[in-house]
Amino acid sequence: MCGIRLKYAVSHVLFVAHEMFYAQTNIEDNEKVNPSSARTYGSRLDEAQGFSEVWELVKDTVRNTLGERRVGMMLFLDDLSLNVGAYHPLGTNNIVLNRALIEIVEGATKSRPIVNAFVYTLLLHEYLHALGHIPESEVRSLVYQVSKESFGENSIVSVMAKKGPRSILENIPLGQFSASSKRAMEIVRDFDKTNHTYIS
Ligand SMILES: [Zn+2]
Repeated sequence: MCGIRLKYAVSHVLFVAHEMFYAQTNIEDNEKVNPSSARTYGSRLDEAQGFSEVWELVKDTVRNTLGERRVGMMLFLDDLSLNVGAYHPLGTNNIVLNRALIEIVEGATKSRPIVNAFVYTLLLHEYLHALGHIPESEVRSLVYQVSKESFGENSIVSVMAKKGPRSILENIPLGQFSASSKRAMEIVRDFDKTNHTYIS
């Protein structure tokens, strides 16, 4: 794909389960955002250089809004069906992102802030599952709450959280991308930097 390329060092690994794209959701707008944190988080997200920087922001915004935290997560990239954004196999430390889909978004939008917002929304959703929030409706609600409180109601992430991340794909004809061959699953190295003291 052409377009901006997020730079991620990777190597090969194994496979697991999956999660469909969450449907559109309607959530009440009844909370305020702190303008200074919205600016700070917003510029950090716009400028994030890769998965680990977006991930730091996912963890920071969740800790700041919900007071919840989990370290030692691992990120894998795989070419999945285009109706899947990402998944978290319950009982593991793993999140798997759909590499093919992210590359399509990169190629179609050529916008780092939009790609980063898309990745943030997908990672945030799976992180909330990993924190023990299982029901989809609860997770969708929390994704919106965290996004709105951290970035503001009109931010790209809040709009994506409200309409569903798939809304970003509305104008992209996905059919033309379905024929590419599947590559091996990869692990993103140094994804969760808080895990660096652990020996695997
Ligand atoms: Zn989910």
